[in-house]
Amino acid sequence: MPRLIIISNRLPVTVQKKDGAITYTESVGGLATGLSSLYKQSEGLWIGWPGIAAEELTPLEKAEIQRVLLERHQCFPVFLSYNEVEQYYHGFCNSTIWPLFHYFIDKVDFKSHNWGIYKAVNEKFSDSTELVLKSGDIIWVHDYQLMLLPQMIKESHPDNEVGFFLHIPFPSYEVFRLLTWREELLYGILGADLIGFHTYDYVRHFLSSVRRLLGIEDHFNRLVYEDRYVRVDAFPMGIDYDRFARIDLDSSLDLQPTNLEQRSGVQTILSVDRLDYTKGIPQRIEAFQQFLAQYPEYRGKVRWNIIIAPSRVEIGTYDELRKAVTEAISEVNGQYGTLDWMPIWYFFRSFTQDQLIHFYRNADVMLVTPLRDGMNLVAKEFIASHIDLKGMLVLSETAGAASELSEAVIVNPYDYDAIGAGLKKALEMPQEEQRYRNTILHQRLKRYNVEFWATDFIKELHKSVLETTGTNRQISIEKDSHTLESAYRNADRRILLLDYDGTLVGFHGVPDAAIPDEEIRGLLTELTQDSKNTVIIISGRDRSTLEKWLGDIDGLYLVAGHGLWVYLPEERKWNMTVVPDSSWKDIVRPIIGMYINRMPGALMEEKDFSIALHYRQCESNMATIKIREIKETLMDMTNSSVISIQEGNKVLELKDSRVNKGMAATFFIGRDKYDFCLGVGDDTTDEDLFAAIPEDGFSIKIGLGNTNAAYSLKSWKSMRKLLKRFIEISRETDR
Ligand code: UDP
Repeated sequence: MPRLIIISNRLPVTVQKKDGAITYTESVGGLATGLSSLYKQSEGLWIGWPGIAAEELTPLEKAEIQRVLLERHQCFPVFLSYNEVEQYYHGFCNSTIWPLFHYFIDKVDFKSHNWGIYKAVNEKFSDSTELVLKSGDIIWVHDYQLMLLPQMIKESHPDNEVGFFLHIPFPSYEVFRLLTWREELLYGILGADLIGFHTYDYVRHFLSSVRRLLGIEDHFNRLVYEDRYVRVDAFPMGIDYDRFARIDLDSSLDLQPTNLEQRSGVQTILSVDRLDYTKGIPQRIEAFQQFLAQYPEYRGKVRWNIIIAPSRVEIGTYDELRKAVTEAISEVNGQYGTLDWMPIWYFFRSFTQDQLIHFYRNADVMLVTPLRDGMNLVAKEFIASHIDLKGMLVLSETAGAASELSEAVIVNPYDYDAIGAGLKKALEMPQEEQRYRNTILHQRLKRYNVEFWATDFIKELHKSVLETTGTNRQISIEKDSHTLESAYRNADRRILLLDYDGTLVGFHGVPDAAIPDEEIRGLLTELTQDSKNTVIIISGRDRSTLEKWLGDIDGLYLVAGHGLWVYLPEERKWNMTVVPDSSWKDIVRPIIGMYINRMPGALMEEKDFSIALHYRQCESNMATIKIREIKETLMDMTNSSVISIQEGNKVLELKDSRVNKGMAATFFIGRDKYDFCLGVGDDTTDEDLFAAIPEDGFSIKIGLGNTNAAYSLKSWKSMRKLLKRFIEISRETDR
């Protein structure tokens, strides 16, 4: 069994220092329960912050904590300073990401001062992971504090399985796009092989952001990213059902009064929340006030226990919220309370989960109305605790749990009438109906409990990685460069046929922006300087662009228009490989023009003997539909063998069907006797090039996908690394 390495902001063990003595307290419930058996059984580790600021500890104490955590708890600490906790945890995590992802835009700190420290802390986690990671380990990164970590780990450990789970909502694209660092965060998460969310809505929102911000399309929740598949799916987190449904509870923990109210048939309502503006606590109190006004028969007949666990009080907005809640409760109690009845009982403190079970069991109605909540475990815990199948849950439709708990009374948390009516319905629900609804809910919670959730995720992570290894039949040059390098070293006459866009440079919104930078120009210059090398850029671009960009590199051959034009540096002129027919352009041009008018962001590029439609800048859903329509129209209208429609990376190109990169490659390969032949490309137009490479040559596809190429490389960046390696070998062999 491979080791499972869990990484989350906090460890499941809290370290404290009291009067100089170090104490260790294990967390119970939630994630800790769900994951502990998994990572412990696999001899794995949990990496995270132990909850104590680094400044409070001496180097000796840190070493001692590390030893104790490792030996006794299988945990590995990442020590954070006060400043890091302030700027990363309270700052970027809880003052930027948290409000934005919960749709509280007015509370978001959009300023950039905390971004750097967020990145730095993610790097710190990555460095700690480096210290303990072994090949074959499975890594599972958790939550919004560590969104950059999957990419950091994947880059240095491409063979380890990496999973990521977000415990909060992923907001709609319209909200996510407001963040300055949106692309970096998406790329960070995409380092994982499996990305999990609580609900399908969050999955859709994430995929939509990836599509619209990074231009990466999904196919049935699967993305092709560099040389991997990335699966994105919903895994609604469960609870430790047996713990809440158990019968051997310590009755001394039951804090419920056996007073007059209880005996005279007063029904109990319960709410349990962490202090947070996402939980809709002031709104709920106002809705309750309205309920008492609207349904006076309930005055003196209900008692509402509100438990609010203090949290993040260091952040200003939370302290303001605490004051607002206290005031709102006083107002209701002041307005409706009598000498022998108080509507709201307020507890601003934390209870243990065993104490909470008593509260849950004594409640007739659980009122959970967050304005937005990733999941909401309290709602599930209430149901599981009621083994008598009595009691009714009133749940907000904007909590992730609502998609699983549809048998509860579901309400809109902004609609006070609906909350009031829902509360009344729950209070008056006949026991038979309660039993019926709760039976279904119990079955679901029992089956999909937290352990099942964790095991299911790990199983799916492995499946997701197998999909990549199963499809990617090419030999990865990154992983096995030995054969290629030694073939290069031993050769006397080498030919290198290199596509340009996506192979040597990255993609840009507008094609003209992909100008060769200094690095690639330097690499091509050095490569061509080796007298053993014939280097050819083989591109779909037009002659003038290629000549302008690369024509000054001595000895570099250029192929433009997918093989139509060939530039021989020794002759300093372009030659046409076939005499193409271009009479079709007059028919096609107005059709493309018509579509472009209705596709904001699209560009038409007319070359000598082809027409290209670039749509990288278009909204991708719209572009997919339009491109399909264009293809159908063109196929109907140009029913001849002269014109071919070729789809590249966000470009549709129409050209003479006799012109292709394979034809040009064959021409060059036939000019001399080469003992090393290399063809590299990234899209479908390069398949003809791969087909032209002789058996003993090397055809390399950049990225993942169906291909005739024998080898693969991750990205244009890895291609540059390979070219650098070639140059090193050239230099070595020169010596
Ligand atoms: N909880 C607790 N003591 C308290 C209040 C809450 O142990 O006094 C626990 C509760 O049992 C639940 C968790 O805190 O497991 C809250 O999870 P939830 O998903 O409801 O909200 P979150 O705090 O994650 O936003």
